[in-house]
Amino acid sequence: MCGIVGYKGSRNCLPILLNGLKKLEYRGYDSAGIAFLSNNKIHRTRRVGKVKELENALNDKKSSSKSKGLGIAHTRWATHGEPLQKNAHPHSDQSNKICLVHNGIIENHEPIKKFLKSKKIKFNSDTDTEVLVQLISYFYSNVKLDFEQSVRAALQRVDGAYAIAVLNVDFPDMMIAARKGSPLVLGLKDNEFFIASDISPIIKYTQNIIYLNDSEMAVINENSYEIKSVDKDVILPKKVEKIDYK
Ligand code: GLU
Repeated sequence: MCGIVGYKGSRNCLPILLNGLKKLEYRGYDSAGIAFLSNNKIHRTRRVGKVKELENALNDKKSSSKSKGLGIAHTRWATHGEPLQKNAHPHSDQSNKICLVHNGIIENHEPIKKFLKSKKIKFNSDTDTEVLVQLISYFYSNVKLDFEQSVRAALQRVDGAYAIAVLNVDFPDMMIAARKGSPLVLGLKDNEFFIASDISPIIKYTQNIIYLNDSEMAVINENSYEIKSVDKDVILPKKVEKIDYK
């Protein structure tokens, strides 16, 4: 297990993501990490240990003065790669343009890594997850697919389970999330979008929830969203559920 959280909206993402991680800490406490987009850069902070370690590091870096309304976060229960800082999520591609959090296991990470290494792509971690972000980046930078198609192309080639949230510096208004075999929910409130492994990080902000099914992706862009298929580029009709949690 691992816990993932994502936020896109007009508020500072950092407190929302940190609070979300605290709610999801039961899902993994090997390491915690956050990445946010600001001024065309990915700002990434990761720490081994509990969310508190990450919070202290973010305070030391005075990150909340830089962070804006788009970010992703993760609390890890390691399956591939020791619980070290280099293996903590979010993982980014070699150009540091695309970053991703992942809950699950990419079973065929070895052959994909071998293929990517043959294309001179350099790896920085021992995780199965890094293979997925580098594969997305390969489709985006080498094959020149657009961002959404790059995520779709990569997901179509992985075996195993995933819930992911992905950011790309070239698309500062966009977040893509998808799942297969691992849980993922989307929370909606006016022009704010919340992604999480379960509703606990979201219910403070909204009762309007979409539960993603296997092989579905949420494409969040500026102030709108679409639920689409991972298998082909089609929009899926989805119902927003009103959660009564009181
Ligand atoms: N396989 C990934 C890792 O080890 C994600 C772990 C998980 O979801 O449990 O970092």
